[in-house]
Amino acid sequence: MGVASHRTGGNLSGPRVAVEVVAIGDELLLGDTVDTNGAWLGTTFSAAGIRVVRRAIVGDDDDAIRSAVTDALARTGVVVCCGGLGPTPDDRTRPAVASIYGWPLEVDESWVATMRSRFEVRGLTMSPTNVVQAEVPRGATVFRNAIGTAPGLGLADDERGVTVLLPGVPREMRWLLEHHALDWLRERLLHGKRRINRRVLRTTGVAESTLAERIADITGDIAPVTLAFLPTGAGIDLRLTSWGDADDETAGNRLGEIEGSLRARLGRAIYGEDGADLAEIVGNTLRSRGWTIAVAESCTGGLLAKRLTDAAGSSAFMVAGVVSYSNEAKTAFLDVPAATIEHHGAVSEETAAAMLDGILRRAGTHCAVSITGIAGPGGGTEEKPVGTVWVGVTCGGARRVRRLRLFGDRAEIRERSVQAALKMLLDMLSPE
Ligand code: AMP
Ligand code: MG
Repeated sequence: MGVASHRTGGNLSGPRVAVEVVAIGDELLLGDTVDTNGAWLGTTFSAAGIRVVRRAIVGDDDDAIRSAVTDALARTGVVVCCGGLGPTPDDRTRPAVASIYGWPLEVDESWVATMRSRFEVRGLTMSPTNVVQAEVPRGATVFRNAIGTAPGLGLADDERGVTVLLPGVPREMRWLLEHHALDWLRERLLHGKRRINRRVLRTTGVAESTLAERIADITGDIAPVTLAFLPTGAGIDLRLTSWGDADDETAGNRLGEIEGSLRARLGRAIYGEDGADLAEIVGNTLRSRGWTIAVAESCTGGLLAKRLTDAAGSSAFMVAGVVSYSNEAKTAFLDVPAATIEHHGAVSEETAAAMLDGILRRAGTHCAVSITGIAGPGGGTEEKPVGTVWVGVTCGGARRVRRLRLFGDRAEIRERSVQAALKMLLDMLSPE
């Protein structure tokens, strides 16, 4: 999927700040540790209206670090490094980057004191090697680390650009970024402009590329708002963020305008906003109608029933769920004729329809849903590949049975099946 291109291409207007990420550590090159920090930095920066345009991985080596950071600074002028801030001799990031700026390392006594008191609180004595972690390039901003001994560092000058150093330990890296480094970076990169508004429009059932095409003419020039496409198991979230000074009303108004255009264009593909959950929306709609529901599931193994009952008070509409995993169970609990399964297969329109009729008859509800499919990784055929899922929905007399072709691993296919079933149900509950 062209995630990165949508996120970073013509759809992202407003502040176009580009950063590069350099992950440092021999263990990353050897493959002993996967660079999850890089992925997390990507998501977090895009949420902040900052584009990560390149990621590099280098080992614990002065020259390699220096050259990676120097090259990145030459291209974008903004680099975020993670790793190599530990107290041992193989941690080279601090001296390597300090040398790029020509700033000498000096011991930050207040950080030594902080570390020492943290050790003392636990009845431990600080090892002299830890003092290395308090060595900071003169002129750097120190991001005080509340959950570890390596502080983060921010270096900036007009000639070389902006470099942020974060520890490799994922938890500490995140904490420092969220509590210190992101604001520090934003001040420098967005010239003090701050996020003043955010709105997430949640879509499901439309592929990311299709979605991007459908709204391309709206999202071409949206400054000072930025748009990010965020694929999740539940669909694609469109996140609008407006940037401006605190008293800037245009930025907020512009976000409202763009939201309105997107809603008009995408219609029912948008099922909710911000943290809205599709199952909860369906549940609320059922409740407001005074309608009940029962579900018959095969490949989703009860996931739909779980989603429908996640919120308290779901007994107002949820009556029953049957997980009919085997062919025999489909016949025994849902009256699916054995011949139907034999002739058409357990994953077929006919079986999905019979499961739907069975659960509706047995539970006597206003609405029913059936799901049968191949979640994989095995079990696919040319005719019915992994990701082939049939969903049946009946609601207040209307009835629809649809085939889906879903992608992803087993967990994703199951999640997407449920999401698609819920969306079909919502559309039938609220006809246009
Ligand atoms: P360091 O700051 O280099 O001492 O890294 C400390 C620990 O953080 C390493 O032992 C790794 O387990 C972990 N780590 C370092 N870099 C990364 C990364 N890019 N992604 C995930 N974990 C990392
Ligand atoms: Mg390391």
